[in-house]
Amino acid sequence: MALKFKTREAVTHIAPYVLGKTLLDLKKEHGLSSIRKLSENENIYGCSPKVKEWFKENGSDLFLYPDGAAVDLSQKVSAFLGVPKEQLVFGNGSDEVIRLLTRAYLSSGDEAIMADVTFPRYQTNVLLEGGTPVIVPLVAGTHDLQGMHDHITPRTKLIFVCNPNNPTGTIVGKRELLQFIESVPSHVLVVVDEAYMEYVTTDDYLETLPLLTAFENLIVLRTFSKIYGLAGLRVGFGVMNEEIAEQLRKVKDVFNVNTVAQKSAIIALEDQAFIRECTHKNEQGRHYLEGEFDRMGLSYFPSQSNFIMVDTGLNGDVVSHELVKEGLVVRSGTLLGYPDTVRVTVGTEEDNKRFVAALESILNNKGVK
Ligand SMILES: *Cc1c(COP(=O)(O)O)cnc(C)c1O
Repeated sequence: MALKFKTREAVTHIAPYVLGKTLLDLKKEHGLSSIRKLSENENIYGCSPKVKEWFKENGSDLFLYPDGAAVDLSQKVSAFLGVPKEQLVFGNGSDEVIRLLTRAYLSSGDEAIMADVTFPRYQTNVLLEGGTPVIVPLVAGTHDLQGMHDHITPRTKLIFVCNPNNPTGTIVGKRELLQFIESVPSHVLVVVDEAYMEYVTTDDYLETLPLLTAFENLIVLRTFSKIYGLAGLRVGFGVMNEEIAEQLRKVKDVFNVNTVAQKSAIIALEDQAFIRECTHKNEQGRHYLEGEFDRMGLSYFPSQSNFIMVDTGLNGDVVSHELVKEGLVVRSGTLLGYPDTVRVTVGTEEDNKRFVAALESILNNKGVK
């Protein structure tokens, strides 16, 4: 395609992000009265009711710029996680922190290692800087850490480990990840993206924050978009050694996290009872769905997150299209590297039953068991 205005070379290599249709469009298109979005792994229970209370009473200070240093939020998160606030960098979603990392540390021709498939933003941001994504296939839906290690070269700057991994929901074992972090040369940055860590219920999950002192090249990403239920406000953060944090702050927009996001994140963090309840309900929903998939003879990746990727034996576009007609929006695996799957967010008990019934009827009608 010939562009009238020539972009930087790096931009020409980037495919546009494929967004799902809006719920409003889907409702109109299929004449639906109710629709449930199980496609983007948001918290199906929303956010803490305390955030909603704040919204009702406040909002008069919005003519002021936000706190560019997110002082109150930094203090809260620092106390909650037990890390010095100098080690925190907040972003307009953790998506922005990924971009700050590649912006600050990646030069043209540098390499960044990541899994295939994983969160697509790693690759896009690496390409944007003219870097080379080095893609290492998952094994059984799980990061192949040995394979990733084998791909380290003198040009390697960054390694991304998404744990749990999006879109497969799998985690890497505790010992395996620790050994990996130990084995990576200390000048290569290891980014562990823990967007879904609050949903993990197994003991075999590495606690990374205590490792930050020993491994100055380790960066941990967290977000308020998933279990905290604030995806619409855009706030996430990275935890890392102070030197790296200082560099990223130089790169970020000054007022990158808006006032409402900062305030809501503080309130949401204070309501850990809500978070525990969501973790618990999600685990029950996950067990229910996995049990039903077993009963239907469908394979799926073992999930430690709030979504499951299930192999239906039918093209994901076909299945997701049929599900929309039933008012259920899921993500087709064709966009995610596994064409015969769909990725479904674990919903409420009612959502999950509705999803299983709809899926079963689709598979029966299409002549699959
Ligand atoms: C959703 C998600 C994020 C978080 O994105 P935000 O920008 O914080 O909303 C980061 N990493 C992964 C793997 C995700 O799935």
